[in-house]
Amino acid sequence: MTIYLNGQYLPIEEAKISVLDRGFIFGDGVYEVIPVYSRKAFRLEEHLRRLQHSLDGIRLANPHSNAEWAAIIKQIIAHNTGEDQSLYLHITRGVARRDHAFPSPPVQPTVFVMSNPLLTPPAELLQSGIACITAPDNRWLRCDIKAIALLPNVLLRQMAVDAGCAETILIRPESMTDGAFMTEGAASNIFAVKNGTLLAPPKNNLMLPGITYDVVLELAAANGIPHEVRRIAVAEVFAADELLLTSSTKEVLAITQLDGKQVGTGKPGAVFAQLHALYQDFKRDVMRA
Ligand code: PMP
Repeated sequence: MTIYLNGQYLPIEEAKISVLDRGFIFGDGVYEVIPVYSRKAFRLEEHLRRLQHSLDGIRLANPHSNAEWAAIIKQIIAHNTGEDQSLYLHITRGVARRDHAFPSPPVQPTVFVMSNPLLTPPAELLQSGIACITAPDNRWLRCDIKAIALLPNVLLRQMAVDAGCAETILIRPESMTDGAFMTEGAASNIFAVKNGTLLAPPKNNLMLPGITYDVVLELAAANGIPHEVRRIAVAEVFAADELLLTSSTKEVLAITQLDGKQVGTGKPGAVFAQLHALYQDFKRDVMRA
């Protein structure tokens, strides 16, 4: 595997960073995950825009122009095998003596890019759907920043794994009271469906603005699927006819069990089937263009 680190293309075994890197010490950095289909980065412009938003959120200057990012990404795709890949971009505030405040004057940020095989869900999972649990969303109030500091997300996802489930659906505030609502998954966005209407939580500081989330809403709008972007109360999550999970690597999945109870009929529903098919067609069309 060939990776990019601070201007160099290297075998991953030869890539080294300092123990004083602020990413290692503080989790002081941001990242992106970009799916590659047929050796083309999917929605590159949108991913680079979200990266800029994350960098702005942590007050770190973008080390590269979009043209430079595109060139690095092109090289990494070419250096790695597989038509479909999952690119990981990671930028930290660089190497400095340990001190919470930003290094002054600023130091060179650390820039790391790697490619992994893109493992989209197998057919069985598309047919069965996945099981999820719910848990209080105990993260910070800037979940719109794709921060490398993922300890809450790691612990929340592990709760799902420990329960034999695929994902944890997060509920704010941290109690299942009347005012509680769904934000997203530990590493995904979540939609609900009620009476044929797709419900999407609004993008704000409490969730990551998913690139797949945007594609799904665009597909709903373009294909006459009724949809509403609004806060989804916890009671609506449990009463939903369908629940859908989206992310760059999982694409669109049906959630057929929640906290041990079946969602709707317990089988992937009609809105899932339609959106999944539309997503596959959309991907194919974009890659052909
Ligand atoms: N929310 C969180 C917390 C995530 O980590 C991710 C990505 N894994 C998403 C949503 C989905 O975003 P995208 O569709 O851009 O992969």
